Amino acid sequence: MKNSAEWKGYSEEIQHTVNKSSIQWMLILVIFFHAIVTLYINIDSQPLNGLSALAYGVIGLSIIISATYLRTDKYQFISFNLSSAMLTVAWLSLALIIYSQWEQAEPAADLLTIAFICSILANFSNIALLLLSSTAFATAFVFLQLQLQLQLATLDLFISFSKFPVLLFLFMQTIRKMLTKGQYHVVKNEMLKRQLQRISIIDDLTQIQNRKGFRLALSSSLASAQRFKLGFTLLILDVDYFKQYNDSLGHPAGDQCLIKIAEIFTKCFKRETDIVTRLGGEEFAILVPDVDWYTADKICQRIHQAIANAAIIHPDSSIDNKITISIGAATYKAGDDETSIYARADKAVYQAKSQGRNCSVILANESHQNMAESKVD
Ligand code: GH3
Ligand code: MG
Ligand code: MG
Repeated sequence: MKNSAEWKGYSEEIQHTVNKSSIQWMLILVIFFHAIVTLYINIDSQPLNGLSALAYGVIGLSIIISATYLRTDKYQFISFNLSSAMLTVAWLSLALIIYSQWEQAEPAADLLTIAFICSILANFSNIALLLLSSTAFATAFVFLQLQLQLQLATLDLFISFSKFPVLLFLFMQTIRKMLTKGQYHVVKNEMLKRQLQRISIIDDLTQIQNRKGFRLALSSSLASAQRFKLGFTLLILDVDYFKQYNDSLGHPAGDQCLIKIAEIFTKCFKRETDIVTRLGGEEFAILVPDVDWYTADKICQRIHQAIANAAIIHPDSSIDNKITISIGAATYKAGDDETSIYARADKAVYQAKSQGRNCSVILANESHQNMAESKVD
């Protein structure tokens, strides 16, 4: 299971969530420290104000890049790394401001230690970035320590320098362990949950989506139609004289026939946004986004043609010696809800049946009734 693509996908998703919160914390902390430090900056000092402006600029840019990153659902190498790299620059500028303002190495070195710990938390998933930021902080830290060198004993110096690699190692190990353990349980549960959700909307016989899947798809189609003004068409497809098919060839043959019909429909609608479902019995429903009235008619013709090409023998149909279907279609109109658009498509199937079957009726809205009826010969 751990090697599966699905596992990898979920793990990356979790990692991305962790990255997001790390970068948020990093941003909050750097802004917090910078705000405090700038309160005490000597306002007459031009270079310091320039440096402070640079730090604010870098933080601002990082906020913009982070904002786009935080909105995404997938890990984005460039924006995440760029944002983290900029925050590293912001920390370094802050340390430099403190050092220049008060001419004291100690508070600047303390700030670098905080920056270093933040960077471990934010970048621990990206070794290259972590090494880069740690090296930058450590170098600046060593530089500051060298300013203090005379006052420090050798042992102090050693402990002071070695805390970076030691802390890095300890943090990494602890966080890795915690994350791996938590990730295992979360990913496993998430996989099981999604597996169950998938199964619950799949029709056992035809392996396409079932009525529940249809309901969910219809409500999301309606939501996007209302929100983004993107229309869609609902097709209801009913096999003609299927009872007779069962009666003459038996129920198992009827099942095979339904499987075959589902396959034909699926092949006709290859786009991921087209949803092919089985409502139950010999009744199917298809949702096609952004289709106008004329295209809907073409789609119906294509389905009739595909069913005719499959030439599934029907020994007892009153209209043909092959399986045929009747289609009722309803295109979305403003103000539609699940009941109204479904009722329109259902009414259209009923009309197709009463017009002799093996044909389609498309109802764009009440005033367009019967404007698009097509008969297949
Ligand atoms: P019409 O042209 O008016 O649609 O007639 P019809 O015979 O297709 O419609 P009717 O509603 O009278 O019959 C539907 C039949 O579909 C009844 C039932 O035997 C059959 N059926 C429903 N579900 C299944 C199924 O899962 N497997 C099989 N083999 N047959 C089914
Ligand atoms: Mg039928
Ligand atoms: Mg029926």
